[in-house]
Amino acid sequence: MGHIICIASLKGGVGKTTTAVNLSAAFASGGEKTLLIDCDPQGSATTGVGFNKQKLTKTLYDALSGKVLIEDTVLDTHLEHLKAIPVHSEFFRAEMELMSKPEKENILRNLLTRFKDHYDHIIIDTPPSLSLVSINAMTAADFLLIPLQCEFLAYESLIQLLQFVRLIKKKLNPDLRLAGILLTMYDMGEKTSRQIAKNARSHLKNAVFRTVIPRSVQLREASSVGRPILLLDPESVGAQSYFKLAEEIMARRAKDENHKKDSYLSF
Ligand code: ADP
Ligand code: MG
Repeated sequence: MGHIICIASLKGGVGKTTTAVNLSAAFASGGEKTLLIDCDPQGSATTGVGFNKQKLTKTLYDALSGKVLIEDTVLDTHLEHLKAIPVHSEFFRAEMELMSKPEKENILRNLLTRFKDHYDHIIIDTPPSLSLVSINAMTAADFLLIPLQCEFLAYESLIQLLQFVRLIKKKLNPDLRLAGILLTMYDMGEKTSRQIAKNARSHLKNAVFRTVIPRSVQLREASSVGRPILLLDPESVGAQSYFKLAEEIMARRAKDENHKKDSYLSF
């Protein structure tokens, strides 16, 4: 059965899109059917897998507003098993249009129920806000993956987000679970990085993935070229850490399926 992972954080620039693109690619390169959905009006995941936002005709916006079927918005990418639903700048209008729809928090969820099982993994990239679009993404998701940038003040916004997620769980999506918190832009030589990682592990324990994403110039460059890093340099430390993350998620999921009440997967 397909699982939906929503990548979320209240902060921008923490590695959400980089994680959405490269984790999707890591799953797909293992032969798993993967769909990357770009829910951020900035469209960085859309460009991150090589699309020109100005040239798109059918996007997530058209599906959310009911103009086209969601299956008609799915595009092939440079990786065989990776498909993507892109956005373009019109997506800003989606937020306004969704406001007046009945069941406005459930639109994406309703669209995905029909074809979620065509994929092994669906990864949703979200904007750094608590907008209606983000609420739709969290309501549609089975799991939440939260990147935590190894920098000062990152922790505070994580606590805020977890409070918000508890509300979503209570009111809209009781089955939502935490896939894990991912330490990103980790720099072993930097005291702040080590401190944030240490604090996160001591407070949030197993909720924090063992896999850490290091700060890497190649990862930064890959996003500007519009390719997942594994297509550019599969041996690089960035590509290898996203392979490891994909493996860790699969291992956690297998464990979760055996022990439904595993505590680190619930809030
Ligand atoms: P978000 O989606 O949370 O706003 P991005 O994934 O777009 O964050 O990352 C913000 C910037 O940091 C981008 O320029 C991206 O290329 C860069 N970046 C992301 N992850 C890393 C990393 N591990 N090492 C170096 N640069 C990174
Ligand atoms: Mg982003």
